[in-house]
Amino acid sequence: MKAAQPPSRRDAKTRPGFSTTAIHAGQPPDGSTGAVAPPIFATSTYAQTAPGVHKGFEYSRTQNPTRLMLDRNLAALEGGAFGLTFASGMAAMNTVLNLLSAGDHVICGNDVYGGTYRILEKVFRQYKLSATFVDTTDPRNVEKAIKPATKLVWIETPTNPLLRITDIQAVSRITRKKRVLLAVDNTFATPYLQRPLAIGADIVAQSTTKYLGGHSDVMGGALIVNDADLYKRLAFYQNAVGAVPSPFDCFLILRGTKTLAVRMRKHCENAMALAEWLARHPLVAKVLYPGLPSHPQHALARKQMCGFGGMIAFELKRGSVKNAEKFASSTRLFTLGESLGGVESLIVLPCQATHVSVPPAERKRTGLVDHLIRLSVGIEDADDLIADLAGAFSRTFASRAARS
Ligand SMILES: *Cc1c(COP(=O)(O)O)cnc(C)c1O
Repeated sequence: MKAAQPPSRRDAKTRPGFSTTAIHAGQPPDGSTGAVAPPIFATSTYAQTAPGVHKGFEYSRTQNPTRLMLDRNLAALEGGAFGLTFASGMAAMNTVLNLLSAGDHVICGNDVYGGTYRILEKVFRQYKLSATFVDTTDPRNVEKAIKPATKLVWIETPTNPLLRITDIQAVSRITRKKRVLLAVDNTFATPYLQRPLAIGADIVAQSTTKYLGGHSDVMGGALIVNDADLYKRLAFYQNAVGAVPSPFDCFLILRGTKTLAVRMRKHCENAMALAEWLARHPLVAKVLYPGLPSHPQHALARKQMCGFGGMIAFELKRGSVKNAEKFASSTRLFTLGESLGGVESLIVLPCQATHVSVPPAERKRTGLVDHLIRLSVGIEDADDLIADLAGAFSRTFASRAARS
């Protein structure tokens, strides 16, 4: 069985393919100068010809031409009608939570980005929003957790850091029936590999800091929706709160999305090669990668995604935290650091970095162990990355592993 085809070719007679969309959508050559690259409109305000008469731009917190190009570009990539872009992924999520009121309830996946847990538990709880964290890989857990006050279900798939897959369509059938909003954090998959709006999501959230930017040089976030009223409400909170990206940051992300398809293909190819190599390694206890047939939701990943992404998590056989720390400090090409989705490979121990804000008891419940190692596989040459990991094995375990 082959994974679904990437959306690289025309997926409808009238609609251009993914790469064409990435390179052209929202950013035609500049009308006044012919500039092919999107101009960086570094302006806070806009001339009005009479009080209140303007060209659709009044003030750059509300709207900016460079940002509008990015909004449109990302909406097209996700196959949605409307895009809104933010100063970070968390600013985007914050805006979704602004839709809710005191007393409302949120259901969230129990294996999600640490900041997602933190904003629900440490920020919005103060405003009397409650959250229940469930294993969304079984959609029945979502159904069971729904109460009359539930307004939003927030899922991540694949999850950070355990790479679990949730059936978006199955969850959406539940949220539709119960009239609850479904938001999908699509950061790990990107629209190249997965388009949640087409299979029932109401909101797609992105940390554009990661694959969409793709070069570890910019922070950003995005929300993409189909419903005009939902878009208006989100745009209201975006403008009211003001966590907007700078025009320069929008330019960088637009530059990133142009190569998203070629980068994602290489991320997927490299990650598969590394996952297979790790799975065969005598000192590796467990490899979590949706592309491996051993992954518990491998079949679902094949159905829902058209590639398995660039993220891998694994555990060493002698899985002490000390060994994991030693390993993560022993690579030379893989940089020890947070974040993901850039052209360069990164290695991290989630429990000491991206997930410190999740309490140990909660981590234990979801199966996130302290010695888990997460790789963001970049687009360097796979052989060099494998050699780097082999070097880290031999430095960590001295004599034993060098030959593998
Ligand atoms: C990084 C990340 C976020 C947060 O995005 P920022 O741009 O860092 O604010 C949210 N979700 C996932 C899955 C992430 O990896």
